[in-house]
Amino acid sequence: MNKKIVDFLNFLNDSPTAIQASNEIIIRLEESGFKELKEEEQWSLQDGDKYYVCRDTSVVAFTLGSNNLLDTGYKIGAAHIDSPSLKIKPESIKTENSITSISVEVYGSPIISSWIDRSLGIAGRVAVKEEDNLKILRVNLKQPVAVIPNAALHLNREINKGFEYNRQTHLKAILQSKESDKNPLMEALSAELGVAIDDIFGSELFLYDFEPAELCGLDQSLIMSARLDNLGMTHSILSAILEVENPESTCIAALFDNEEIGSETRQGADSSFLENILERIAITKGYSREEYLRILSKSFLISGDMAHSYHPSYPEKYDPSYAPAMNGGPVIKWNANYNYATNLESSQRFKRLCEMAEVPCQTYIIRSDLLCGSTVGHIISSRLGIPVVDVGNPLWAMHSVRETVGVQDHINMIKVLEVYYQ
Ligand SMILES: [Zn+2]
Repeated sequence: MNKKIVDFLNFLNDSPTAIQASNEIIIRLEESGFKELKEEEQWSLQDGDKYYVCRDTSVVAFTLGSNNLLDTGYKIGAAHIDSPSLKIKPESIKTENSITSISVEVYGSPIISSWIDRSLGIAGRVAVKEEDNLKILRVNLKQPVAVIPNAALHLNREINKGFEYNRQTHLKAILQSKESDKNPLMEALSAELGVAIDDIFGSELFLYDFEPAELCGLDQSLIMSARLDNLGMTHSILSAILEVENPESTCIAALFDNEEIGSETRQGADSSFLENILERIAITKGYSREEYLRILSKSFLISGDMAHSYHPSYPEKYDPSYAPAMNGGPVIKWNANYNYATNLESSQRFKRLCEMAEVPCQTYIIRSDLLCGSTVGHIISSRLGIPVVDVGNPLWAMHSVRETVGVQDHINMIKVLEVYYQ
């Protein structure tokens, strides 16, 4: 199997939540020689060196180029690392008739029915007391530990005519079928982390689909997994920047949490995180504020988020002229109302990159009678004034707990992004 695909499947399996995805990004950056900078510390940057900065779960990585920033600007790739999911309400755990269940909050906009009757894992992070300090530890229980069962067809005869799950009452995750004196979730967390239950002070935990990412199809040309939107584009941008050595332009990968809930958080794309880093790179390299603004106007951003692939069972959902084929190449996404930030110039620049990488390129525009989604591209474009092209790979079942993409599309997108950065 292609090495990039092997790494992609491992990345998907090791990133059950954005908390773990953020850590997997950092592991790969550090293995490739990127050094951590802290927002609260003073920076000193060496030409040709590679750095990364974290704000909570979001990560911005950069490789300093040899050219004057005023000549080349920044070459930025951006994507979101979070996916719609179900977040556990830790205090809601209850045992009734020997069945222990826990309630969830819905994060973002999942296809809720896709979470039902599946083996679910639990992962996230917990606050643990260590001497007089609190320490945050990532945790993944690494086995199927929960299920949200449907009611039997016989108890819900109309279910196949469409059924709305009540988020408070129908989505309780069942954790075990026996009585226990202690909180069994806390016991499992304490055993996994090797800490006393009394030393666990709080948690942020999510359910996740336990089924691993795998190839599918008679020709093994498809990848099925949870969280392909948007770990697919996260992995593409990350893989490309890891390959860049001694670039002329300063290359940046901006990987944000919280896009699925609107990006308006401390670390989201609609925060000061990216712009502070861009300005601090310029200041540290001796440029004035005016020069920094000139650098921005020379910069470019490829915003990567998945695109809707043509679906043979729902042909009526597509404009026939703009229905991207699975494994047909990267997709440029347009929207008249600028939910996607692509314009004529930025689209031509991306097409040219595809030509240079010898990769086919497709276009997506949603049907005029449907509402278009959105991503981080237009947010960054309006905050910083940087031209943006919104692109992504074709995907089926966006926001299902199990989505599908094309193997060749993933390889091709990495090729195009490598040409971009280099
Ligand atoms: Zn997305």
